[in-house]
Amino acid sequence: MTDEQSARQIAQDVAARKRSAESVVANALDRLHAADNAYQLLVALDADGTLARARDVDRRIAAGQRIGPLAGVPVAIKDNICTSFLPTTCASRILDGFRPPYDAHVVEKLRAAGAVIVAKTNLDEFAMGSSTENSALRPTRNPWDPQRVPGGSSGGSAVAVAARAVPIALGSDTGGSIRQPASLCGVCGLKPTYGRVSRYGLVAFASSLDQVGPFATDVHDLALVLSVIAGHDARDSTAVDEPLPDYAAELDRPPGKLRIGRVREHFAEGLDPPVAAAVDAAFETFRSLGAEIVDLSLPHAPYAVACYYLICTAEASSNLARYDGVHYGYRTPRPADYVDVYAASRAEGFGPEVKRRIMLGTFALSSGYHDAYYLRALRVRTLIKNDFLGAFRSCDLILGPTTPTAAFRLGEKTEDPLAMYLADIYTVSANLAGIPALSIPCGFTPDGLPIGMQLAGPLFAEARLLQAAAAYQSRTTWHTRAPASNRS
Ligand code: GLN
Repeated sequence: MTDEQSARQIAQDVAARKRSAESVVANALDRLHAADNAYQLLVALDADGTLARARDVDRRIAAGQRIGPLAGVPVAIKDNICTSFLPTTCASRILDGFRPPYDAHVVEKLRAAGAVIVAKTNLDEFAMGSSTENSALRPTRNPWDPQRVPGGSSGGSAVAVAARAVPIALGSDTGGSIRQPASLCGVCGLKPTYGRVSRYGLVAFASSLDQVGPFATDVHDLALVLSVIAGHDARDSTAVDEPLPDYAAELDRPPGKLRIGRVREHFAEGLDPPVAAAVDAAFETFRSLGAEIVDLSLPHAPYAVACYYLICTAEASSNLARYDGVHYGYRTPRPADYVDVYAASRAEGFGPEVKRRIMLGTFALSSGYHDAYYLRALRVRTLIKNDFLGAFRSCDLILGPTTPTAAFRLGEKTEDPLAMYLADIYTVSANLAGIPALSIPCGFTPDGLPIGMQLAGPLFAEARLLQAAAAYQSRTTWHTRAPASNRS
C-alpha cells in the first residue's frame, strides 16, 4: 500500500517524479486526521500551509534543483522542537499560542533535505513523563490498545509512526522519551550520542541529557534521518565536530562479528516475564547471526533512576525559570501586583508534574543540600559512565529490554510518580553516560502488545548500532506489524 511506503521509497519516487510531494503529503494529512480522531496525537496542524510547502518541494524538483534524500517525505515533529511556521507549546499552558521566531536546527536540516513538516505532536508537558498523560491538552492513546498509554514523553510522535500516518517523526530523549514510546508502540526509535545532533531550537528540559532523534518503522529509515539531522552546528556548543558517516550507506556493510553484552542487572526483579522471554529470543537471533554473547555487570545501574531524577530536576528548575509570564506565552489575567505576575502566571501555567520537578530540583540545588544531592548525583553519574566504559572493553554493544513492561493502562501510574519514574529504569543510563541507544520491536505479549529491545553502544557508535539492528531486522518481521486498525 503506497501510504505505508518507507521514507526512502517515498523520497525516491518523489525525486523521480513518480509521485508528487503534494499527493504524498495530502495523503499523510488524511491519515493524521484519522489517527488523531482515534488516538489524540496532535497538538498543531495547518493543512493549507503544509500543502503549500509540499508544492514548493514539487516546484524545486520541476525546476531541476538538487533535492535532498527526504524529498516529499512527511515528518511529524514533537511539540518541544521549534517551528516558525507552527506554534510550539511543549503541551504546556504556559506556552499557549507561542510561535517561535526561528526553526530548530533539525527542522532546517529536514526541510533542506526536502522533507515536509506536517504536524506537531503531543507530549508530556515539557517532556516530563513516560506516558503522555502529563500533556496539558489531553492524553494520547496507544494504537495497539486505546485503553493504554503510548509511552512518553514523545507519545504523539511514536503514535504518528505506529499508526502509519507518517513514515518519520522526531522526538527528544532526556531519559528515554524516544526509546520508551517506540517500545510501547511497536516502532523504532533512536537516541543519538549526546552532541551528535544539535539541540538548537529544542526547548531545554535537562540540557546535559537532552538529545533529538528519529522514529521510523525500520532501521534503514532511522539511518537516513540521522544522516540528515546529525552534524556540527555552531549554535549549540555541545554539538561536536566529529566526522559524520553516511549512516544509510553503512547499513549495506555487514556488522562483522559482534560481541553483544548481556547485563545481569537488566534481568533482575521487576522485569515482566514476556519481555524477558522476547529479549532472550533476540539474543538467540544474534547468536544465529554469528554474534558472541558476553555476560557482564553494570554495578551502578540500580542507582541510575535516582541519579537521573536528581540531575534532570536540578537542570529543569533552572531551565524553566525563563517562563515567567513576561517573556512569552501565558500571563495571568488579573495580577495583584508585579510579583504576582510571575507567581500567578507560573502557578496557573505549569501542570502538577512540572511543578513537582521544579520544586525537587530547586531543593536539590539549594544551599545546604547541594552537596548532599546534586553533587552526589554528579559523582554517581561518573560511576555509571565508567561502568559503560569498562563494559565496552569486553563487548561491542549491549542488548537488553527497553522497558520493564509493555504498555500500561491509562491512569494506572498517574497517582504514583515513583511507579511512573520506574518505567525509565533501563533507558536513563544511556542519557547519563551520553551514549547512543535505540529501541526496535522484538515481540509481543500474550495480549498482543508490542515489546521493544534496546541496543546501546559506545559514544559515536551509531553506525555499528544501526548495522546490528538492521541485521536483526533482516532476520525478523516484528517491525513490519502494524496495529489492527491500520492493516488493510
Ligand atoms: N520519562 C523520563 C522523565 O520523565 C524521560 C523523559 C524524557 O526523556 N524527556 O523525565
